Amino acid sequence: MVEELQGIGMTSRRTRLRLVQRLRDHGIRNERVLEVMTEVPRHIFLDEALSHRAYEDTALPIGYGQTLSQPYIVAKMTEILLEHQPEPPKRVLELGTGSGYQTAILAKLVAEVFSVERIKPLQDRARDRLRKLSLRNAILKHADGGIGWVEKGPFDGIIVTAAPKELSRELMSQLADGGIMVAPVGEARQMLVRVVRQGDQFVTTEIEPVRFVPLLGGVVR
Ligand code: SAH
Repeated sequence: MVEELQGIGMTSRRTRLRLVQRLRDHGIRNERVLEVMTEVPRHIFLDEALSHRAYEDTALPIGYGQTLSQPYIVAKMTEILLEHQPEPPKRVLELGTGSGYQTAILAKLVAEVFSVERIKPLQDRARDRLRKLSLRNAILKHADGGIGWVEKGPFDGIIVTAAPKELSRELMSQLADGGIMVAPVGEARQMLVRVVRQGDQFVTTEIEPVRFVPLLGGVVR
């Protein structure tokens, strides 16, 4: 039994190494990001019926009409947050916990991750998975995260994993000075943007077109 489990572990690590090579080929350069994506098992963030597809570079359904983001996008967004200067971000807010995969990647890289999800059953599953991986520095909240998590701010980084029509001032104001936000913005056409706070200025750069589920209001119990 133990051998069998180790066998599975080895196979999935080999598969992850292939995935990480693809991420490199697509331009992901941050070695820390590539390292944690080699470590964190993506298959445990999926239902068993889909877990064999975990190491394809593609978005996959997680129920409730939601999706686990494509590994390339997870890597790209994480890499952008880690551009934080003069040192890596310490406190990061995530909107849209979903499966918890992006949360897990962040929890390996920063001191504290605060993650908000509006669909309770998804949050419950994510919590179990993070516990299994002993990632205790991820703090989850069931709420409409559209307006951020003001009590826990300001944040060095904010990552939005569902697309708002536009970025709200309220959310941007929860960035610390020098903080970085990365978010998909738009409806039918969406753009991944980076926002860097410099005092009262929010310097916005378009990164690349993306396709995310929409950021919705209200909660599901
Ligand atoms: N980061 C996730 C991506 C999940 S898809 C992962 O790695 O699996 C986006 C998630 O955002 C969905 O779970 C959806 O329910 C959630 N979401 C959408 N609007 C939200 C809102 N206003 N507040 C909190 N979560 C929201």
